[in-house]
Amino acid sequence: MPPLGLITVSAMLPSTWQKRLVDMNVAALQISDIQWADYVFISAMYIQKESVNEVIVESKKLNKAIVAGGPLFTQEYSNYPQIDHFILNEAEITMPLFLKDLGAGQPQRIYKTSEYADISQTPLPDFHLLSTKDYAFMNIQVSRGCPFACNFCEITALLGHQVRMKDTAQIINELDVLFHKIKWRGPVSIADDNFIGNKSEIKNNLLPAMKEWMQLHKYPFTFNIETTINLADDDKLMSLLAETGFNSTFIGIETPEEKSLHYCNKVQNNNRDLLANVKKIQKAGLQVSGGFIVGFDSDTSTIFQRQIDFIQQSGIVSAMVGLLNAPKNTKLYEQLEAENRLTTEATGSNTDLSMNFIPKMNYNELLDGYKKIIHHIYKTKPYYERLRQLLLNYNRQYRRQTKIDFPLLMAFIKSVLVIGVLNKGRSEYWKLVIWTLFNRPGSIVDAITYTVFGYHYQKVYGLKNK
Ligand code: SF4
Repeated sequence: MPPLGLITVSAMLPSTWQKRLVDMNVAALQISDIQWADYVFISAMYIQKESVNEVIVESKKLNKAIVAGGPLFTQEYSNYPQIDHFILNEAEITMPLFLKDLGAGQPQRIYKTSEYADISQTPLPDFHLLSTKDYAFMNIQVSRGCPFACNFCEITALLGHQVRMKDTAQIINELDVLFHKIKWRGPVSIADDNFIGNKSEIKNNLLPAMKEWMQLHKYPFTFNIETTINLADDDKLMSLLAETGFNSTFIGIETPEEKSLHYCNKVQNNNRDLLANVKKIQKAGLQVSGGFIVGFDSDTSTIFQRQIDFIQQSGIVSAMVGLLNAPKNTKLYEQLEAENRLTTEATGSNTDLSMNFIPKMNYNELLDGYKKIIHHIYKTKPYYERLRQLLLNYNRQYRRQTKIDFPLLMAFIKSVLVIGVLNKGRSEYWKLVIWTLFNRPGSIVDAITYTVFGYHYQKVYGLKNK
């Protein structure tokens, strides 16, 4: 996915400046890029700490000034003495201050604010800087902030609880630019941490306009979002999403254990039938992927099997399971600090088996249980069982015309070759393909896509088929 934050910040810089974008997720940083620049702007999340260090070292070798912002630096700027200027919190507020001081020849080192920006004034991101062939998705931002207060969540620590939205006209303009100027067709991810934080605005203004735009342009995009489970309470909203071209949502389920939901203040998940809610959303035409956590103080040794059972029964094919961590400035961080249980800073990685505090459960037991979940849910057979569950329950509403072009055809042939011929789980693959053709022929593209995801997850987690 493109670095939406950086291209948004880029649009705030003077139009006379020349800019070059290097997304180190898709391209290597070239020394010539640093040599070319007067200023090196970096934005990063926790998980990108390593590549941040690389940029700092290379830039300083060439004596270039570095300007940094984004979540990592807003939380941890004091760990980076080599950086010349910090544009922290929301750049709509802090960037103009920096630019003004820079123009006057007196730039300060740190710009921060406790205020939240009015994002209806945020400029159109510099989408033209992207090389679209490098990306599977485009992304846009509709809102910032979330009304909930999960105790481990750094989003609300950074962006607050009040939901701030772009205007509908801004969003339609961004769709126009993606469609007409950069000629994108395909998936568009909405970067909001909770897209339905302001349900009434979404339902009454934004979605009707997006639906009309999609009809007019013959449905060029599919949208995916992150929401909360209370989406299941609103039939009208779910229908509108599906009709507009939304086909999947990520939801933080976290745990089926009520006590743990209570412990982490996930009030929106408490006292409801989470399994029935997930199935209801799938039936309405949105595939659900989910986040799950183990390591809450209230977790006992039964939690691992409970998580496996829930995930298997839910048809949540992409289940992101992580060990609990406490990012800086969260309520959980404060609590663990007061209890003297913090050991280090969170790494931001969901797969490196790290925790930054001393858990109540024995760490080795927790780790074994966590590995048991991962090994179970991403082994070929249970993974495909879950996929069948989804295909049976998912009621596809929205059918975007997919143009079969050469790269898509090659990707399909490669996936068949790798997963259906060379991989050890190939017999399960063919059983799934045949089952889908007989039972859900209209979902064969989804089925093949998920087999590719499954192969990817097995690689990420280092699993072998047996
Ligand atoms: S619902 Fe999601 S974004 Fe909102 S506070 Fe909880 S974890 Fe954070």
